[in-house]
Amino acid sequence: MKPTLLIVEDEPAILRGLTDLFVFHGYDVDSEMDGAQGLKRAQQNDYACILLDVMLPSMSGFEICEALRQTSATQPIMMLTAKSTEQDIINGLSLGADDYVAKPFSTSELVLRVNALVRRSGWSQHEEKLLLSKDVCVCPHTLTGTSYQQPVKYTRREVSLLSYLLRQNKPVSRDELLHQVWGYKTVGDIDTRTVDIHIAKLRKKIEQDPKSPRHLVTHRGEGYQLYTQ
Ligand code: CA
Repeated sequence: MKPTLLIVEDEPAILRGLTDLFVFHGYDVDSEMDGAQGLKRAQQNDYACILLDVMLPSMSGFEICEALRQTSATQPIMMLTAKSTEQDIINGLSLGADDYVAKPFSTSELVLRVNALVRRSGWSQHEEKLLLSKDVCVCPHTLTGTSYQQPVKYTRREVSLLSYLLRQNKPVSRDELLHQVWGYKTVGDIDTRTVDIHIAKLRKKIEQDPKSPRHLVTHRGEGYQLYTQ
């Protein structure tokens, strides 16, 4: 699963360059060239990091940042500022940006800084430890965890499945899981059973009573949903 960035930048050449740069470094990239559009997009999605130019049509990067902070304290925000005077930097940081780079910036430095923000953001904490309840926790990096005081080992696929379901926070169909978690292009009848088998195995690991699951719940006709409590 790739982390997704939102880049709000009104200069087409810079936007194109940044998009190529981050796609090359393993990100999915959404972009907007207008300030108000950028804010709207940012509010509608969950981004690993948002990169904001300062001078934008309709709304400045500082204003976007301030508006975003009213609803999310943890959204990672990187300002791309042409102004490198101390006052502008202080403005940006006091309005809630996590970091900034001054144009013209070094692309490798920008990538390093964005990677660092993404790593220490809520998004990656999410990745480091999935807490399904006070009794069930999963560490994606080590593929281990505990479930009702018992140590549990997970497969990489099981962890991907859990992370995906956790991020969707709604019922997800078997077909979607096969596309998104297994990476299958076409899906047949036999394939959807693959999902059910994995779900059954996971329930034995994370549910106190796999026959009446509290976390990994089946919604008839819709798919599976993962609940945390
Ligand atoms: Ca600009």
